[in-house]
Amino acid sequence: MGFALFRRSPDPAHLDVRHAGQRFKVALRRRNTARRITLRVSSATGEIVLTLPLRTDLETAKQFVDAHGSWIAARLARVPQRIAFEDGSIIPFRGVPHRIVHWSSVRGVTAATQDPHGAPVIAVSGEAAHVARRVREFLEREARRDLAEAVLRYTAVLGVPARRLTVRDTKSRWGSCSAKGCLSFSWRLILAPPFVLDYLAAHEVAHLKEMNHSHRFWRLVHSLCPRTEEAERWLKRYGTELHRFG
Ligand SMILES: [Zn+2]
Repeated sequence: MGFALFRRSPDPAHLDVRHAGQRFKVALRRRNTARRITLRVSSATGEIVLTLPLRTDLETAKQFVDAHGSWIAARLARVPQRIAFEDGSIIPFRGVPHRIVHWSSVRGVTAATQDPHGAPVIAVSGEAAHVARRVREFLEREARRDLAEAVLRYTAVLGVPARRLTVRDTKSRWGSCSAKGCLSFSWRLILAPPFVLDYLAAHEVAHLKEMNHSHRFWRLVHSLCPRTEEAERWLKRYGTELHRFG
């Protein structure tokens, strides 16, 4: 009997699960390294992913997710709500809670300032439909400015030239350093307290000298940034929270 006769049709991208009147979309991934079926709910984004070994048939996969409907619901209930960039939302900016205020429909500069009572706000103007984009652009701009300043400071200490710096919305890493010395960071670091952004800059600049995570590398990072441990702890504890915003 040839197994080729039983070749599977391609998997769907998602499986639908119904539970107590709710409907969940479960992303399907096959991995040749998977030994068993695993189901995961991202605590940052609420994404549900089912990982399957190559040999597992789709029917078994369906039964597995159907049997885990209440488990998925319980996990999703613990995922923090997303906070949109809109009038009235409270978001952290350099580690300090700021309220987004759409104060005028006349176009002007987005700025971090204070309301008449002295409370920190991010004041946005222009059409209401553009508030989210303008807040995001403001945060990216501020992130780039703080990162460029920190990178310059640390490259001066190490005596290495400053390289190209990009600011993006990275999902898995806060920063990276390419073999060519290009530094890349998540704009979301501007939401964290300044010592965290500062540490990330020190970490990536140190890679310009040590392209590894050896003891020598870590000694270098510590010499540049005395708050390394504290920043690593902060990211471990609160890092995923930063993905809730926007
Ligand atoms: Zn590194």
